[in-house]
Amino acid sequence: MRKSGGRRRFVETAAIWGAFVAIWATAAGAFASNVVAAENATSEIRRGPFIVRADFDLTPLEEELRELDSLLDEITRTFRLPKLRENVVVRIFRDEATWREYWNREFASAPYRRALYDRKNYLFDRDGANGRVYLCVNPLFKNDLRHECAHAVLAAALGRSVPIWLDEGIAEYFERPASERLTNATWRPRTIERLRRGEFSTLESLEKLAGMNEMSPVKYCDSWAWVCWFLNGPDAVRDVLPQYLNDLASRKPFAAKPSKRLKAIAKDGAAERSLRRFYGAL
Ligand SMILES: [Zn+2]
Repeated sequence: MRKSGGRRRFVETAAIWGAFVAIWATAAGAFASNVVAAENATSEIRRGPFIVRADFDLTPLEEELRELDSLLDEITRTFRLPKLRENVVVRIFRDEATWREYWNREFASAPYRRALYDRKNYLFDRDGANGRVYLCVNPLFKNDLRHECAHAVLAAALGRSVPIWLDEGIAEYFERPASERLTNATWRPRTIERLRRGEFSTLESLEKLAGMNEMSPVKYCDSWAWVCWFLNGPDAVRDVLPQYLNDLASRKPFAAKPSKRLKAIAKDGAAERSLRRFYGAL
């Protein structure tokens, strides 16, 4: 799932370099070609913090783009996030071939992804946005839009990155329409299988993952499963992720990780047993 058709969020180790490159490029009078591409956009729709651009008429996609309102509302409500600090630019390509061409020009050093959330610390950005979502019209357009914009909403609300397992777990959770979030046909059956085989990742092991190259498909699966359980499991655990994210947003220097918070409320493997029951993998 995360091979040629997958997605990639650039981790922010490159953020400072991004800012440096932006300054250098401007000083040299040479604009990065993604800026040029944005300037060439002939169609723009604004929906709250989202600035959606394309070089084709976006009117036929208006219904799909309405998803952005409900996604923003749901994510901020679920995690009780503060108001977004930044806008988000969403760049849509007319088809996969056009996107692939752009990818080969701009991101060639990385393995191809069908959609992307890229974040840089732009010092002066006319859109007031550090985050850029790139995606193309394709049969899974709505899923791609929700997935990448979930990353964007989190980062724009927190003004910082989120641990990779949680970032991807949340994006996987919200990429499905609301009616399919719990029944996710990709991850739920695999979760049950992994639990039965004793292969399921502990929360502690997911929290140690440091970058996208460590996010194998099974890590996506387990990250989705933990997030889904945290949000829909016993009442006692539903506050764990909102509280953790809010601690990150308020820059608490030592925000306890979710595994530590969980241990304080569910002792002696009670959380793992609850998760097994939740997925019916007893
Ligand atoms: Zn992602």
